[in-house]
Amino acid sequence: MDVKGPKIKDYIRKFKVEPGKKVQLKKVDSGWVQNDELKKMSEGAAQELLEKLLDRDRAALTKAQELLAASHQHGILIVLQGMDTAGKDGTIRHVMSGVNPQGCDVHGFKVPSSEDHAHDFLWRYSKVLPERGMIGIFNRSYYEDVLVVRVHPERMEVLPEKIGPDAKGFWQGRYKDINAFEKHLSRNGTLILKFFLHISKDEQKKRLLARLDNKEKYWKFSTADLAERQYWDQYTKAYEEMLSATSTDYAPWFIVPADYKWMARTFVASVITSAISGLDLSYPKVSDEQVKQLMAAKKTLEAE
Ligand code: AMP
Ligand code: MG
Repeated sequence: MDVKGPKIKDYIRKFKVEPGKKVQLKKVDSGWVQNDELKKMSEGAAQELLEKLLDRDRAALTKAQELLAASHQHGILIVLQGMDTAGKDGTIRHVMSGVNPQGCDVHGFKVPSSEDHAHDFLWRYSKVLPERGMIGIFNRSYYEDVLVVRVHPERMEVLPEKIGPDAKGFWQGRYKDINAFEKHLSRNGTLILKFFLHISKDEQKKRLLARLDNKEKYWKFSTADLAERQYWDQYTKAYEEMLSATSTDYAPWFIVPADYKWMARTFVASVITSAISGLDLSYPKVSDEQVKQLMAAKKTLEAE
């Protein structure tokens, strides 16, 4: 089958959250979102097409990452957020499988340590930001500091009462801090892309049950996930507010329909490859003098 990429790529780009737009997640399809091209196909054919597109983007990403490293100007920060079982780990594995491991760092963020809590909330993330030439992936991120702790205030670091979560404008302040942090990174050459893997509550139930139906998946099941599921509506609200406040031109959010893993993975790969190619990178220029030296070195080696 021919890979009719470009049209589908346009369609895929529609999932960008326009800065200032108020997000309502129940109005965003988490399923197999159709466009005119896909609508004519069976689900199997659509999956086959998107998987081909993913293969193509993966190959393009391998090349883009080489160029990113060689040109050594920009770093790329990819932020992945989503409810439990949304597919963050699988997306990282599939999308980045062709990338040179030396050019890519993945950081997963769990419950903060007491040392983390003794610092400002951005501290633990800023320590591991990608340097120029590198792709850094955050599997969960500083966005947890306006999500999980918003739903469970008792899990938050202790702040002075006057400036803590009960103070007026506290969460708005955190969004502003995050936007300023990202603006700072962007002004220093970091390209930031943020993906919210959007699954339905029904799909989460299926995925949790799948972990209990297969002995080899038992390890993936955490009773904590079941407990968090009770807070689905509170998380949705926290996500909506966060997505509405922190999608910017310099660090946009993409809401990825993620009930179908093939859809989510193709989408993420496509956005990353087209964003890197938008940087218009080129290999470092070699001067005439350097070429002369290289040719002299070649001669020396050949004469050995
Ligand atoms: P997992 O998704 O299995 O890697 O679990 C990571 C856990 O760490 C989740 O339950 C998150 O809610 C929790 N977590 C991550 N970041 C934070 C944070 N900043 N504050 C509190 N809990 C967090
Ligand atoms: Mg988990």
